[in-house]
Amino acid sequence: MNKLLVAGTVAIDSVETPFGNKPESFGGSAAYFAYSASFFTSVKLLAVVGEDFPEEYKDILRERKIELEDLVTVKGKTFRWKGKYEYDLNSAQTLDTQLNVLLDFQPKLAEGYNPEYLFLANIDPELQLSLINQVDRPKTKLIACDTMNFWIQNKIDKLVEVLKHVDMIIVNDAEARDFTGQTNLVKAAKLIKENGPDTVIIKKGEHGVFLFHENKFFSLPGYPLEEVYDPTGAGDTFAGGVIGYLAKKDRINFENLKKAVAYGSVMASFNVEDFSMERLRRLKENEIEERLELFRKLSNF
Ligand code: AMP
Repeated sequence: MNKLLVAGTVAIDSVETPFGNKPESFGGSAAYFAYSASFFTSVKLLAVVGEDFPEEYKDILRERKIELEDLVTVKGKTFRWKGKYEYDLNSAQTLDTQLNVLLDFQPKLAEGYNPEYLFLANIDPELQLSLINQVDRPKTKLIACDTMNFWIQNKIDKLVEVLKHVDMIIVNDAEARDFTGQTNLVKAAKLIKENGPDTVIIKKGEHGVFLFHENKFFSLPGYPLEEVYDPTGAGDTFAGGVIGYLAKKDRINFENLKKAVAYGSVMASFNVEDFSMERLRRLKENEIEERLELFRKLSNF
């Protein structure tokens, strides 16, 4: 039985960066998350794709033994996202979003399956709510979610509802500001916590991450990289490392959360070193531990 379920998008991305363009490549919030989390625990992926989705992309997920029983294929075109990064590579500018098969998607958990850990990756908050209603609490020990400005702008009411039911939210700094109308990130996190989750994680791109858990606070810098090619999926890869590690430890406390955030940062640092999922595909388990050790040394005094 897969301990961790991720629901989100499996996508065809077209990405422009100062280092080159990658049209029609493999992406999606759930795809990046699942690939990253699979280094820590067994993962099941729930999503929808269209008939145009290449089988070879599914094979990439199979490389990590990700359970694909709930990756459904329906008539129509796969969700597509087109984005562009400027020179600082910190934030993506969305050029185009085509929801396609997502528009009629009704996610459904397989009969008799209940995940212990559920990650609601970036997707329509109505779909996130539908999944929240299908899991059996407290057998599902942790529900965490992500979102982005597209949904904050289009479906804020549904997102506020999602927030009431999740234990953790992982968002980036711009999303936290957009969502709360608060420019100060500490105040924004406080406001989010008052409206639901005990744990708020705010990613600040190359500048690192803030973790707020109950009344405790932790901060990590970004891992200093010389080679950054494509930040697409960094947030989802980060979340995959965080939740994957927590599912592996199977105990949610501040100590494990701090380590989880460090593992998430390490996973994201690998992902940005190449386009799409290419760097993660070459990643060896020992490289994760080695970089974690380097990271520990550089942020410890
Ligand atoms: P990030 O980790 O934030 O860089 O997420 C990048 C991934 O999010 C891309 O692979 C996109 O396919 C996916 N994505 C972009 N826009 C949306 C959206 N509105 N809803 C869900 N997923 C999205």
